Amino acid sequence: MSKNIIIIGGGIAGLSVAYRLEKLSESDPPNITLLEKSGEIGGKIRTSSFLGHQIDEAADAFLTRVPWGLELCRELGIAADYIYPASSKAYVVVNGSLRPLPLGLVLGVPTKFLSLLKSRIVSPMSAIRAGLDRIKPDDWPGHDETVGELIRRRLGPEIAEKLVDPLIGSINAGDTDLLDLGLVAPQLEAAARKNKSLINGLRNQAAQGGDRTGPVFCSFPEGMSYLTNTLRSQLKHTDVQTNVEVKSVLNDANGVKVSAHGIPDAVADAVVIATPANVSSKFFDNFPSVISLLQQIEFSSVALITLGYRRSDVLNSLDGSGMLVPKNEGLLITACSWASSKWPHWADNNHVVFRVSVGRYGDTRFNAYDDSSLVTHVADELKNLLDIEGEFIESRVSRWPSSFPQYKRGHETLVNSIDDQIKVHLPGVFLTGSSYRGLGIPACIRQGNETARDVTDYLTQ
Ligand SMILES: Cc1cc2nc3c(=O)[nH]c(=O)nc-3n(C[C@H](O)[C@H](O)[C@H](O)COP(=O)(O)OP(=O)(O)OC[C@H]3O[C@@H](n4cnc5c(N)ncnc54)[C@H](O)[C@@H]3O)c2cc1C
Repeated sequence: MSKNIIIIGGGIAGLSVAYRLEKLSESDPPNITLLEKSGEIGGKIRTSSFLGHQIDEAADAFLTRVPWGLELCRELGIAADYIYPASSKAYVVVNGSLRPLPLGLVLGVPTKFLSLLKSRIVSPMSAIRAGLDRIKPDDWPGHDETVGELIRRRLGPEIAEKLVDPLIGSINAGDTDLLDLGLVAPQLEAAARKNKSLINGLRNQAAQGGDRTGPVFCSFPEGMSYLTNTLRSQLKHTDVQTNVEVKSVLNDANGVKVSAHGIPDAVADAVVIATPANVSSKFFDNFPSVISLLQQIEFSSVALITLGYRRSDVLNSLDGSGMLVPKNEGLLITACSWASSKWPHWADNNHVVFRVSVGRYGDTRFNAYDDSSLVTHVADELKNLLDIEGEFIESRVSRWPSSFPQYKRGHETLVNSIDDQIKVHLPGVFLTGSSYRGLGIPACIRQGNETARDVTDYLTQ
């Protein structure tokens, strides 16, 4: 008899589980039901219309340097549709002015001394201090580090605060002094472990990297929802139910029982929970040990404010993909994508579009603003930075509460403990998605694939 599988959450992770489960069992397809709380699938991948163009409200691209996103798109038959950012040049704000990022930057780490010095982003003394990394003895403390610990020890505090934290911190909406180096920036960890000098290690990686010259990110003309919509459209044996909010997941004599608002309780042979850990923790009333472990994963909240202007009102030439804002600048803005420079199809010739990020771990100031005052405040900050003369003509606020899981030091051990507890207390239940083993889209796809294999193994053992 066919097995019943319930997947909770219709983001990229949950959809990937459904897709891979179908592929793994083509000869004997299980009955798969996917339950999604909101009215649409996609989760944090959402595209909507702005000034007449389809513009992403959160993720706007995925990484091409790891295989899982590209492989899925090839399987779905959409690999020919890729588009790439039109510019990779970017800026950082220093004392209220824009400075181009130096050449040879790897995740915020400068590998070209002269370019760093000329950029005037850090003081000459700090540039020299960073250059000393190439001759300083090995001072690895012998234990796992945070991103900030590595950068401060090898390159000094100014590089950490004005280059690495603005970049890696904004990708993760986090504080790099707390984020686990191996999980958040494995490339930096590998470089630092193989070579006493971080800069030499990164240069060696680049020299050996040969073919790693193509675009780092890709997307689709229709926006990132094209990926999740295509994924859903190719599910043949999955019953996708939207507007269904799951309330609890319990052991049952016949399997695992799922209770949700608006539909009868259902019992399945296996249940995949692809909701964020802070949501998933509420499903397990009876297991305080699982709940307390899940609750140890912290989240930060962000908002993306999309602003449209008449091109003639913006004096800055916008020759880049955007700008980063270090914390010490004291602005609400943490980063701003010059969205219509990065993705030219996002605006016509007469307009420009910006996507402004606010909020990160430890910075919840934006929550005190309602949408209208948030837009006004952010527009004021932009006006000064980019020489904007007129007012914005369209705006949109996309709030993403508790959206970025913080991979703090020890996160991997914590996730392993959660998996162990689930196996003991809730056999047949599987957790997956951005809270656990990678938060970028490709990493969520990889986890979806792995979870589908784990479920298949469990059901055939
Ligand atoms: C602003 C922002 C920008 C980002 N930019 C990028 C980027 O450019 N590139 C990149 O690779 N990554 C980016 N990310 C990260 C990436 O988008 C996410 O990590 C990823 O999409 C998360 O997928 P997921 O399936 O794990 O979770 P989610 O997308 O959160 O999906 C979980 C789903 O579960 C549903 N759900 C919640 N509670 C219940 C319930 N009780 N019952 C049923 N369903 C429920 C939710 O509605 C949601 O659809 C960004 C994230 C944000 C927030």
